[in-house]
Amino acid sequence: MGEETARAIGQAARDSGVNLSLHAPYFINLANPDPESRKKTTGYILAACQAADWMGATRVTVHTGALMKRTRREALDIAKETLAQVIAACDGEGFGHITLCPETMGKLGQLGDLDEVLELCQLDGRLLPCIDFGHLYARSLGELEGLEATVKMLDRVEELLGSDRASRFHSHFSKIAFTPNGGEKVHLTFDQTDFGPDPAPLMAELARRGWSPTIICESAGTQDVDALAMKELYLKRLL
Ligand SMILES: [Zn+2]
Repeated sequence: MGEETARAIGQAARDSGVNLSLHAPYFINLANPDPESRKKTTGYILAACQAADWMGATRVTVHTGALMKRTRREALDIAKETLAQVIAACDGEGFGHITLCPETMGKLGQLGDLDEVLELCQLDGRLLPCIDFGHLYARSLGELEGLEATVKMLDRVEELLGSDRASRFHSHFSKIAFTPNGGEKVHLTFDQTDFGPDPAPLMAELARRGWSPTIICESAGTQDVDALAMKELYLKRLL
């Protein structure tokens, strides 16, 4: 994206009272140890930070990566090294004020369950997790849904990152269909009822805690309606 377009989008968003965040390219794989690939990954994230800066966006979401036939531990250790290099590069280029948000991923072959993302976020006090609740639901084959599971997930974030960072995490939410072997299959709308997660327990629990994360609705084509539904669920519990 060019500077002129990015600045125009930023102005339009400010005029409408919308806070912007940016998603770095989807194919980024922090868990690839190849030096050339690391250099490219760093370049893509720097470019995303530059666009975010032009737009006045303060957060950039980053995918954690693929296992590529390694153990989860091996892949995570490599991702931590790459992310540390990325953070140093961002600081070096003057993008230290942009918050990088490693994302929880929905497919079983991907790095990025909740604990893995929280471990990545412990590398630097400025990182915030991008918790995609649909992804966590899909990769747990439907386990991570409902009030009890939601309370446990939010407690875990607070335990590992502290209450300040926990209260303002970044997030994606949609219902997502999954397959038993692979996890995430396809994003759905709130009207589709054969898969979850149900947004109500999360909204109720966030309001009860007085937390104000940024939640981006990623429903399949009904983002406007479903985002509003989540906002209403949250406000209803807050009042
Ligand atoms: Zn994503």
